[in-house]
Amino acid sequence: MKLTILGATGSIGVSTLDVVARHPDRFEVVALTGHSQVDVLAAQCRQFRPAFAVVADATAARQLAGLLGDTGVRTEVLYGVDALVEVASLPEVDAVMAAIVGAAGLRPTLAAARAGKRVLLANKEALVMAGAVFMSEARRAGALLLPIDSEHNAVFQSMPYDYSGDMARGGVRRILLTASGGPFRTTALDALTRVTPEQAVAHPNWVMGRKISVDSATMMNKGLEVIEAHWLFNAPADRIEVVIHPQSVIHSLVDYEDGSVLAQLGNPDMRTPIANALAWPQRIDSGVAPLDLFAVGQLNFERPDLARFPCLDLAYRALRAEGNAAAVLNAANEVAVAAFLERRLPFLGIAGLIAATLDAVPQAPLPDLAAVLEADRQGRTMSTEILARQGAAA
Ligand code: NAD
Ligand code: MG
Repeated sequence: MKLTILGATGSIGVSTLDVVARHPDRFEVVALTGHSQVDVLAAQCRQFRPAFAVVADATAARQLAGLLGDTGVRTEVLYGVDALVEVASLPEVDAVMAAIVGAAGLRPTLAAARAGKRVLLANKEALVMAGAVFMSEARRAGALLLPIDSEHNAVFQSMPYDYSGDMARGGVRRILLTASGGPFRTTALDALTRVTPEQAVAHPNWVMGRKISVDSATMMNKGLEVIEAHWLFNAPADRIEVVIHPQSVIHSLVDYEDGSVLAQLGNPDMRTPIANALAWPQRIDSGVAPLDLFAVGQLNFERPDLARFPCLDLAYRALRAEGNAAAVLNAANEVAVAAFLERRLPFLGIAGLIAATLDAVPQAPLPDLAAVLEADRQGRTMSTEILARQGAAA
């Protein structure tokens, strides 16, 4: 199987290459992309010898070409969004790992779907922004969409094998998404006003990129995942429930009409869903240790507290509002998380900024990519303005 890995230098990208390296007979890397970590990408090019590597701009491209100069690696170095789109849709590529973080991943991820590839979808923001457009283009092109997000991969594994988007026909009552609750599950509410970016990105169970780590701390990550599940499985908002499960061993569950509940369990290591999607419908070694239930000992469950995690509530509201709301929510969240990481916004200000942006941007339908990009732009502009006003008032 020939692969393009978008976002190869990130947490998911590195885990993907770890699985790929275990099966040299099975996978061939055609293209790797990274934004700014040129030295990491250069090392990956030396190991996997892709035909193409893509970076952000001409400066990074010159650096990468320089690093590969006298190593005998014949990787062609490209740069920019058009190059990302190009390597996501190369005719010789079978599968595309979509692991760029945020709205920046939308165009290349959509390109892979339009080209009818096997799309290994980690970039949940693409689906949150553009769900309807993305799903209809994927269907039209015959793309196989396999979820990488651990919860959605667990749901995928627990759904009827021939599930086609009809919950009633599949006898499915509810989808139960598990959530660890992040680093602040038990932190006193008044102490949340003072938490730092360093505390927010220190996730108890998973090692991940900075943006998704902050999303896990606010539980916006679970909110985005509710919207992601809606599109992937054609499930209405009231059939998707969130269950806090601090051990992160049950990755999600499907509740059936006959009372059966099927779940997927495993150690919290993204190489499991990555290997599942790479090899589907077969199973291959991922390098993940076998689950030791005796070491786990207990599995606990709690109802999420929406006063503590208002972002989860905002995501449900955006999903129910339909149209541009989820794209605006995603854009405002990206602005808010970046501001928090740069210490321009307190942790508890994240939800407030998103709520104010959702209130300020008029509702609109989202029929095509142009409308999605416009909603993203409006969400960014509005939240940046509100943030500036808050800063001026403070
Ligand atoms: P990361 O920050 O570790 O890596 C992001 C990757 O995207 C890097 O390769 C970076 O170079 C690239 N990138 C960043 N900005 C870019 C831009 N503007 N243009 C092109 N490329 C750009 O993030 P991650 O944790 O690997 O997450 C990637 C995606 O997978 C996210 O959408 C995240 O929500 C999702 N996801 C991650 C995990 C996890 O365990 N890390 C789990 C589930 C889902
Ligand atoms: Mg997840």
